[in-house]
Amino acid sequence: MPIRLLSDTVASQIAAGEVVERPASVIKEAVENSIDANARDIRVEIHGGGKERLLVTDDGSGVASAEVELAFHRHSTSKLASTEDLNRITTLGFRGEALASIAAVSRMTFITRAGDEPVGTLLRLEGGRIMARQEHGRAAGTTLIVEDLFFNVPARRKFLRSDETERRHIDAWLTRYSMAYPELRFTLNHAANTVFQSPGSGRLRDVMVAVYGLDVGAAALDVIPGRESENNIRVEGLVSPPSLHRANRSYITLFVNGRWIQDTRLTYAVVQAYHTLLPTGRYPLAVLMISLPPDHVDVNVHPTKSEVRFSDGDAVFRTVQQAVRRAVLQQAPVPPVRLGASAWPAWGHGDSADRRERFSRIGHDDNTPLPFGASQSSAVASNAVAPIAEDRLPPLRVIGQLKLTYIIAEGPDGLYLIDQHAAHERVLFERLLAERQSAKVASQALLEPLPVELAPEAAGRLVEYAEALTEFGFRVEPFGGTTVLLRAVPAIVAEENPVHVLDDVAAALGVGDQPLAANIEETVAREVCKRASVKAGRTMAREEMEQVIRALEQTSNPRTCPHGRPTMIHLSATELAHAFNR
Ligand code: ADP
Ligand code: MG
Repeated sequence: MPIRLLSDTVASQIAAGEVVERPASVIKEAVENSIDANARDIRVEIHGGGKERLLVTDDGSGVASAEVELAFHRHSTSKLASTEDLNRITTLGFRGEALASIAAVSRMTFITRAGDEPVGTLLRLEGGRIMARQEHGRAAGTTLIVEDLFFNVPARRKFLRSDETERRHIDAWLTRYSMAYPELRFTLNHAANTVFQSPGSGRLRDVMVAVYGLDVGAAALDVIPGRESENNIRVEGLVSPPSLHRANRSYITLFVNGRWIQDTRLTYAVVQAYHTLLPTGRYPLAVLMISLPPDHVDVNVHPTKSEVRFSDGDAVFRTVQQAVRRAVLQQAPVPPVRLGASAWPAWGHGDSADRRERFSRIGHDDNTPLPFGASQSSAVASNAVAPIAEDRLPPLRVIGQLKLTYIIAEGPDGLYLIDQHAAHERVLFERLLAERQSAKVASQALLEPLPVELAPEAAGRLVEYAEALTEFGFRVEPFGGTTVLLRAVPAIVAEENPVHVLDDVAAALGVGDQPLAANIEETVAREVCKRASVKAGRTMAREEMEQVIRALEQTSNPRTCPHGRPTMIHLSATELAHAFNR
């Protein structure tokens, strides 16, 4: 073939391919633009894994109506003017490629209004060509709607994965940015369902709770910049105590100057900081913000900007490793020494008041495992007279059972109403995780292997997570098609219908309603314990109630069930006296 110039269309599709790989890349670029535009509230909505339609809307600065078309030219940006600027990049974007690239491979609607203009602009594009432009009323900010991604690049469209997989990539980006920018509020909707929302409180720990669940959020240790910082490198964030760990490195999340990065060497620095503290083959959780002068890091390595180059990589490595090591050694609580010890650290021994407060959520009726910010203050306020400072339960004396659902108990400071199911769930949950950690989960083989037919995605998930399931006493094998063969279940659910148990686990492992809430192990443990624990409506003998209470006293987080609901309500002696005008 003779040499010839590619047509603009082909050239722009090729260039677009570098930036836009899948729906999640569109989300990433749009969210970065929103952050660069100083938005406080960023909402994302996706349909069909983002392949059909996705929308990102913000309350940022918007684009002036005279500049809207310009924003869609390749290499048009408001963030960079000269080559020298490349050395002092403080925005997430700067290449001026994203809008042009996304528009080239989709049907796009861009609605924006600059704060200082009376009316906004709506621009509609198809395959990069402007189809319509009109004035449009809206609040200051920008909305980007992308439909039929890759409609004009069938080769690309073919390589998109299932809705679920695409959704997972989007979830991942959104949680990353919510952790990097705790002061912003991010909302993610799958169609009409809000599946994730970050609190926007400015506290990383609150975001951790929203992403990984209460237990991880509460246990995480603060990494504080320390003396090891050289060359103005700062490292801060949250890391897991040695008692919390995962089967792979994917829970180590790193940001450099507010940008999520992939860096095997720095990931290794984090892992190394736990040297000798973790069982082999186990990895910590970490969310670390690394900041350094912009001219010490080159972010212009790749169009997606998730790889960076440091001018002094060794210094960054040392700073990360030492900061994490210090956090872990200084703050990690001494593992509790007691029989049947749980896998969780015990608090409340010379701990900061702040940490203790985190658990004093007794008596408020918020059912959702939301960040502590809001609930904490209400708990503190309502217990102002008789604060329950300790995380541990005081010794409780069982008085009786109420409505076959609640255990009534008396403590040194008043009356406790304990939800029998939630309390038992908490007890079993900590026990099961501890057993898994020491590889001692009892398994009960079924008399005959049981073929279980599942939804296609569910079957795939169970096979994918077979290793984790085995650690909890399940034995599941592929059995052709969407059927799996169930050979054994955790002994604590031996009395339950094994199909129901497996169904629950498969459903919870899906990206359904809480894709981001927690990790695989906790999800499996939670579902098993939900089935195994005593149901509401069951008569409990006094000894049984006493057993549950004694066991609950031993848990490290007695006041919430594994799903984050309260296990108990407390009516203090002071409150009682007050109510009776004594
Ligand atoms: P870059 O982010 O690298 O500058 P983009 O193609 O992503 O390039 O965006 C081009 C320009 O469009 C940006 O520089 C910015 O001025 C404007 N822009 C894009 N999205 C937004 C937004 N959500 N709010 C305000 N301005 C935006
Ligand atoms: Mg951009």
